[in-house]
Amino acid sequence: MKETIKVTITGAAGHIGYALAFRVASGEMFGPDQPVILRLLEIPQALSSLKGVGMELGDCALPLLHDIVLTDDPAIGFRDTDYALLIGARPRSKGMERKDLIVENAKIFAAQGRSINDNASGDVRVLVVGNPANTNALIASANAPDLSASQFTAMTRLDHNRAMGQLAIKTNSLVADITRVTIWGNHSMTQYPDIGSCFIGDKPAYELVTRDWVIDHMIPRIQRRGAEIIEARGLSSAASAADAVVSHIHDWALGTRDGDWVSMSVMSDGSYGIDEGVFFSMPVTCKNGEYEIVQGLEMDSLSIARLKASEKELLAERSIVEDLLPKN
Ligand code: NDP
Repeated sequence: MKETIKVTITGAAGHIGYALAFRVASGEMFGPDQPVILRLLEIPQALSSLKGVGMELGDCALPLLHDIVLTDDPAIGFRDTDYALLIGARPRSKGMERKDLIVENAKIFAAQGRSINDNASGDVRVLVVGNPANTNALIASANAPDLSASQFTAMTRLDHNRAMGQLAIKTNSLVADITRVTIWGNHSMTQYPDIGSCFIGDKPAYELVTRDWVIDHMIPRIQRRGAEIIEARGLSSAASAADAVVSHIHDWALGTRDGDWVSMSVMSDGSYGIDEGVFFSMPVTCKNGEYEIVQGLEMDSLSIARLKASEKELLAERSIVEDLLPKN
């Protein structure tokens, strides 16, 4: 039997957390022979609801789930953890401006970064989902001085998967045959879904779809897909977001497919001319728990302009939370 992996989920009683916990515990994230311990972290007001999640997890009698810890104490929630999935975040309340939302969440993620630094495994991998995810990842990482920024990521995998889904429908092909989709930038309306390097089977995607369709339909649809789901369901996406968390960590831990890559928001190292101080979604390959940014992709001037627009938005978000970024 393999040694157990400890996985912390924050906001575990929320919509995404609820959809996610069962999939981690059933083996979909790390494989059917990998036992896990779940550490579910919530704010005090949500502990009763969290207790219900814990009861349901127990009722599933999942063979791979070796223990469940329910807590509102980050020091317990993050203790020795191998994977920290930061889902919980403060939602926008009435009268709150975007700037206030960014600052309120920055305080939460600064505290979580410190707690992860002090309590988690030195080899921990962190995924930030709570919005504004890219800037929250920057704050958490900056407040974890003993850990490398490369141990922190933010999620754009749902946007990546949405692009693959749209392409499969449009070209009447299988998702499994689609490779090399990229989401660039911020997890926001400025993100840039890019199929310039994408293949469907052995054909470049642009042999099967027109540029007009990509610019007028695919890109705006992915940028606005969250709102489209809310309009249809009356609730924001939860199962698909949880699915993207499973895929993001699965591929980071176990590796990406040969000949393909995935999109992750990672600390910029200056690749593609992006400022080094922001978390930016990039094409990455993963192996042995490490990611590597795919280099050398050709970009036309329109693509570069879209990357720059998203970089500008991230730099503006960073300037709002500058006070919470420890100075070296
Ligand atoms: P959800 O589980 O629906 O969403 C959680 C976070 O994920 C939100 O910030 C949401 O952003 C974000 N998100 C990122 N990508 C997506 C996506 N593609 N689709 C939908 N959401 C996305 O929120 P709930 O309110 O149901 O649950 C949040 C839980 O977190 C609650 O149980 C609450 O108690 C807890 N919480 C924990 C805090 C903490 O740990 N300190 C602080 C505040 C809350 P967006 O809002 O933009 O949709």
